Order: sequence, then C-alpha cells, then structure tokens
Amino acid sequence: MLEYHGKSVYGGIASGKIHIIKKNEQQIVRHKIEDCDKETERFEAAKTQAQNQLSELYDKAKTEVGETSAAIFEIHQMMLDDDDYLNSVKNIITEQNVNAEYAVGVTADNFAEIFSSMDDAYMKERASDVKDVSERIIRILTNSDSEKDVSDEPVIILADDLAPSETVQLDKNLVLSFVTVHGSINSHTAILARTMNIPALIGVNVALSDELEGKTAIVDGFSGVLYIDPDEETLSKMQKRNDEEFEKQRLLQELKGKENITKDGTSVLVYANIGNVRDLIYVLENDAEGIGLFRSEFIYLENSTYPSEDEQFHIYKTAAETMAGKRVIIRTLDIGADKQAEYFNLDREENPAMGLRAIRLCLTNPDIFKTQLRAIYRASKYGKLAVMYPMITSLDEIKKIKMISAEVRSELDRKNIPYNVIEEGIMIETPAATIISDLLAKEVDFFSIGTNDLSQYTMAIDRQNPKLDEFFNPHHEAVLRMIETVCRNAHKENIWVGICGELGADLNLTEWFLKIGIDELSVSPPCVLPLRNKIRSLNLSAATTCY
Ligand code: PEP
Ligand code: MG
Repeated sequence: MLEYHGKSVYGGIASGKIHIIKKNEQQIVRHKIEDCDKETERFEAAKTQAQNQLSELYDKAKTEVGETSAAIFEIHQMMLDDDDYLNSVKNIITEQNVNAEYAVGVTADNFAEIFSSMDDAYMKERASDVKDVSERIIRILTNSDSEKDVSDEPVIILADDLAPSETVQLDKNLVLSFVTVHGSINSHTAILARTMNIPALIGVNVALSDELEGKTAIVDGFSGVLYIDPDEETLSKMQKRNDEEFEKQRLLQELKGKENITKDGTSVLVYANIGNVRDLIYVLENDAEGIGLFRSEFIYLENSTYPSEDEQFHIYKTAAETMAGKRVIIRTLDIGADKQAEYFNLDREENPAMGLRAIRLCLTNPDIFKTQLRAIYRASKYGKLAVMYPMITSLDEIKKIKMISAEVRSELDRKNIPYNVIEEGIMIETPAATIISDLLAKEVDFFSIGTNDLSQYTMAIDRQNPKLDEFFNPHHEAVLRMIETVCRNAHKENIWVGICGELGADLNLTEWFLKIGIDELSVSPPCVLPLRNKIRSLNLSAATTCY
C-alpha cells in the first residue's frame, strides 16, 4: 500500500480506480520524412478520424446541451473541409519534407494569427477554433488521443492541476474524487468539488506515472490522505468511517423542511451556490431556500464560443422555474483571473487577479454584457430572479451598470418583451467596496460579501497559490472587521446583506454572523443542512462566544 498526504478541500471517503489526467503537452517535433505521399495519406486518415469524432461529439452535445452549443462541433468539421487549411498542411509536408504533426502545427499557428488580426469579432473567435481542431488532429497523429472524458466507470481523478475549464468538461457522474498535485483550497476546482459533494485533495505529492492508471485507491477527504492499493486494515477503517458519515448524513436529512432559526428566534436565509443548472438537483436535495450565487461564468467556460442570448435565457429560465418562486441570484459574468475561456482572446496579464476581469470586462465589452442582461431580464418572468455584479470598486461602475441595464430594459420595452423589475445587488469583494459600502448601499438593493476575493485582496494573498496557505488566516481580524462594517452600512440604508464566499459555511463563525445581523448565508449545497443544524443549536441571547 502507498500512502500520500495532502490538504483536504472537501471531506468524505471515495474508493475506486484511479484515472490520470495529464496536461496536454503537445510537443511537436519537426523531422524530415522520406515519403511525402505516405505522410499526406497519414494526415488524410487523421483528418477523417477527427471528422468522425466531431460528428459523434455533435450528436452527443445536441442531446445533452442543445443545438446551439453543439454547433461548435459543426464549425470544427467545416474547418477540416476548408481547402486553404488542407492545402497549407499538404504544401508544408511536400515542400519541406516534414512530418504531418509539424505541418498541422504550423498551419494552425498561421491561421490563428490571421484570424486574430481580423476586425470582425466572429472571425477573431475562429482563432481558438482552428487551434482546437488542429490539436485534435495532432493528438490522433501522435496517438495521444484522449478526450477529457473520464472513462465509462466512476473513477478517482488524479491530475497535476485542473483548470476550471478542464473541470467543467468532465462528466460529473463519473468522478468519485479529485486529487491534484498542485491547486489551492479556494480555487474554483475546489469549490466545484464542494458543490458536487465529493472528497477532494490538493497538494498531494504523487508522481503521475502510467502504472497508477486503473489501480484501486481510497481518498480520505477527512484526513487528506490518498491510499493506493489499500491493505485490508485500511479498507475496513475507511469503511467504518464511511458508515459513520452515512449515519451523520441520515440525521441531517431529518432537518429538511425545518426553519433556519436559532433557539431564541433569530432567523437567517440559507441559500446555495451553483455553477450551472445541473447543480440545481443538489440545491433541491439539500433543501436550500434559494440560490445566493449562480456563477454564470461557468456557462461561458463550458462553451467554445460566446453563449447566445437564447441559450442563456433557457438556462436562467430553468433555474427560475425549478426554484419555483424562491430567490435566484445570478452573478453576471466573472471571467478572468483563473477562469479563462480561450475565445475571449484576452491578453496575457502580469497580474490577472487584478486585471481586466469580471465587471471591468463587461463594461469594456457592453455587447457581451447586454446579451447576458437581456437573457436575465427575459427569464425574470419565470420566477424570482435577482442579478448581482462582481468585483465592484466604485460608484462610477454602478452608474455605468445602471445605464446599461436601463438601456436593456428600454430595448425590451420597445420590442414588447415582458420582464419583471428585479433586485440589483453587488458583490462586496474588494477592500475599496468595503470602505465605500456606506455610499454603495444607497445605490443597490442588496450586498453579497465575496469573502474569497475579499480575503485575497485584503491580505494580499493570491488565492491560487498553495505556497501561501500558511500565511492565510480565514479569520483575519481585518476581514472580519470589514464584514461587520459592510453589514452595518447595509442596514443603515435598509438593504439586506449576505455572504456568498466560502467563509459563509464556516460553522465557527455562524454565531458571530448572526449576532452582527447577516441576513443570508449562501454556501455549497452540501453545506446547507450542516449550517441549518448549527443555526438551530444556537441561543444568541445566552451565548457570549465571539470569533
Ligand atoms: C468570492 O470571491 O468570495 C466569490 C463568491 O466569488 P468567486 O469565488 O467566484 O470569485
Ligand atoms: Mg469573487
């Protein structure tokens, strides 16, 4: 038995076979070939195989996510029929006597450069498509053709690191646990593991050798241990721990349908955080009273091009209808930093966490922003939707947002498209927003404190950097004081205030949050019932404990 220790980002026990996901390290080597005709045939065969894969992917995506999202695979197929592209590859093979992988790589780079330099936004987007489709052919040519599909049985994913865009491509039904060599506790992959209620470890120093593929393993998310080829004693110890957990979960189920109220009558809203409509099932299963944070950028990350207004409308409508009159807060696009979608073609930045992200990106690209707002407003007719804006730092941003949102409503009015007047709130996740929260509170309907980013910016600790974990204090006095200030300023202007960062689920702080008057806590779905349990055990008038 091999034993590796790491940090747990979510508890629970998982046992199953290991599946390794390696980074796509497509190192294309240029070498001379003797027979150009044979090499061209090799390319042709790979191209046909890629086309077959794309047609299968199109059919799969059409049934799973709809025609609009599936269309990208059609575009990719069309690219593989493009004479300019094909002639370029064949020409490089024959003129330079080089291997097909190299010819495809060079063609991809050249075409991507041409597309990127075009003025037309649609054509610009094709740059990432031509690279994507070329990588598919190169994978086939080099026999490293592995989609991000896991396998056909549920497995423990072992990876160096997983970007949010990679994680969203995984079939969640086939993932028992995530174990990564790198990664950090507040990364979005960690948040995803919490949403899915599966054990996850980071910082596990295991060499990702091919021999581990398919081996039996156990992930102990409580103690942060990965066991490979576990012995009998470990197996029975883990089984016991699993049974205890099962019993705990069963007891928690008894809290379903009960109020989130302390013994002495203080109640608080307990909402859930989601990343897409598939997470709605976890919200219902865990009996959350609403959705406090719908991270809408995951819709963009799951797509290979901008999701259309209609596509987004259907997603928000589904969320509104499923929650049947309960509040659903859609956070507008918070792309940038660790959440990158290639088709945005964003420049590389020295400090992406402080770069052109979230609301800044929306305000500089009003068309993208307006498409999303139109979809949200149209869906507002189907339930109780609210909208909130991320990464706010100034009143000026609020002014601009209000202008754009008013334009969207006027457009809908002109076209006689019905919508509801919805609450508009902001995330408080920068120290600037905290300090001017008295002014911001006069302008919006609610605040939701994003403690993940607020902590990162307050302590100047990159939430993605695991080496800084020892300096990270989630209960830092500065962050807690900020939360208290924001809460006080919100209430002075009679608006409500919630917490949607991970700190909202910290049971050591629940009592304090309730004492300072936080109105709502929005947490990963599996944290809803443990939080309810905690709230119902509290007696605020008797208790003296603070954080
Ligand atoms: C936060 O920053 O606390 C937050 C909830 O947003 P995200 O984690 O998506 O950045
Ligand atoms: Mg944030």
